[in-house]
Amino acid sequence: DITLPPNAVTDPHEVLHRLFGLSAFRGQQEAVVSHVIAGGDAIVLMPTGGGKSLCYQLPALCRGGVGIVVSPLIALMRDQVAALRQLGVAAAAMNSSLTGPERAQVRADLRAGRLKLLYAAPERLLMPDFLEMLDGVKIALFAIDEAHCVSQWGHDFRPEYLELAQLAARFPGVPRIALTATADPQTREDIAHRLALDEARLFLSSFDRPNIRYAVLRKEAPMRQLLTFLRAHEGESGIVYCLSRNTVEQTAAALNEHGIKALPYHARLPPEVRSANQDAFLTTEEGLVLVATVAFGMGVDKPDVRFVAHLDLPASLEAFYQETGRAGRDGLPAETLLLYGMQDLVMRRGMIEQSGAPAQVKQIERTKLDALLGVCETVTCRRQAILAHFGETLAQPCGNCDNCLTPAETWDGTVAAQKALSAVVRTRQRFGVGHLTDLLLGVKTEKIERFEHDKLPTFGVGTELDRKGWGSVFRQLIVRGALEVDHDNYGALCLTEAGEVILRGRESVRLRQETASGSARTLLKKK
Ligand code: ADP
Ligand code: ZN
Repeated sequence: DITLPPNAVTDPHEVLHRLFGLSAFRGQQEAVVSHVIAGGDAIVLMPTGGGKSLCYQLPALCRGGVGIVVSPLIALMRDQVAALRQLGVAAAAMNSSLTGPERAQVRADLRAGRLKLLYAAPERLLMPDFLEMLDGVKIALFAIDEAHCVSQWGHDFRPEYLELAQLAARFPGVPRIALTATADPQTREDIAHRLALDEARLFLSSFDRPNIRYAVLRKEAPMRQLLTFLRAHEGESGIVYCLSRNTVEQTAAALNEHGIKALPYHARLPPEVRSANQDAFLTTEEGLVLVATVAFGMGVDKPDVRFVAHLDLPASLEAFYQETGRAGRDGLPAETLLLYGMQDLVMRRGMIEQSGAPAQVKQIERTKLDALLGVCETVTCRRQAILAHFGETLAQPCGNCDNCLTPAETWDGTVAAQKALSAVVRTRQRFGVGHLTDLLLGVKTEKIERFEHDKLPTFGVGTELDRKGWGSVFRQLIVRGALEVDHDNYGALCLTEAGEVILRGRESVRLRQETASGSARTLLKKK
């Protein structure tokens, strides 16, 4: 058992070796640690698994006094406190899960200077009597974990985080360190301004995960596409994300029928089943596929997840990055697959429009969804596109994504785009993709006849493409902003200004070729 001298500045390397049992710092850790020990404020952006905890735990131990760690998640606090106590560090948590006597004990320990690290939920920390008590305690630092919670750009906005700004004025001279794995420049700016950390030094790690391979496929027959992908990963552990609990259940059952060991995970499972399935995946069973909703993953640390597949489109590029980021923590090759189709696009946009959120929030969510759609539709390196979103430049195409490995074919879709847009205009912007495709293909459905659309000049002018082909054209026109989906009118497509430019022949359109290469791409294997 190592006891650190109270209130003394200790050598961080010694603490790293003797207390944490680690041989060396990783990446930016050492720079952060010495900056904070010296009393500086810091904003630390590091991908999940990068080692953020050490960046505040170590300075807290070295500076003397108690390090106060703000964390939004009770489960995460519990894990961290347990891990620290195992190392012999006096750590505690203050949150709503404590009983009255437990809370009193924490307060007594704090007042007596017995604690080295105290994890607290923001609303507890900011209670007036708690702050008053802190006035009389020697504080080593404030660490604000999951600092993106202060931003509406983040995926997890928590208004109580805004109140943390008052720590700066109330405890001058106590260093503050904000940490997050959410790296887009808007979130970063929000953290600096809203937490009064404008003067803080920024420690930016690369968000590249070079061992993760990215691939995006047009969703055609999801189960078949998933099976092809999983066959290349036999005996390995991985996660399959689905949007709904139903799809999770159905997919897990179907995989088992195909002889692939799979367990479901979603919020509606009885707690004991959920934690049994999670344990099986994390520790007890090898080569297991966990089919899950986004309910799975926060704070999960399994190093050898070899693949992550998305059967449905995530809500944003951040969500996609976080979820795929659960693969390959051990640095060994890992593969991801995203299936994506017109329905996903329409549904995600619809979810935003119908969310009832304030207009400003909707706008942010649209932008974040569009960033992901951009990555889906790009014909150049996907990693470059992902990192560009985080403000990072990758000089060369990565050589480890589907577009790098099998260059996407493009074709001159100007005429096709004009036909599609013209179909929209001729039908007065009141119909969805299905009906417009019937019109272009010249199919006399009951609906076509009822609206006399077979009399339009666009009727039957699009026989050079098949149904899938037109689906692809419409989808790509939506993503590039030439068409808009009217969610208040059953997904009717409307022409935008950008669409008008194309319709009038003032801009040519290159489209991604999907018919042939799409299926070849499913054969993409490891190496
Ligand atoms: P984050 O909070 O950034 O997701 P953690 O702080 O939980 O990451 O650290 C992730 C893992 O990396 C942990 O298992 C931790 O013990 C390990 N780790 C952190 N720093 C080092 C280091 N310098 N050397 C070896 N392992 C480290
Ligand atoms: Zn690439």
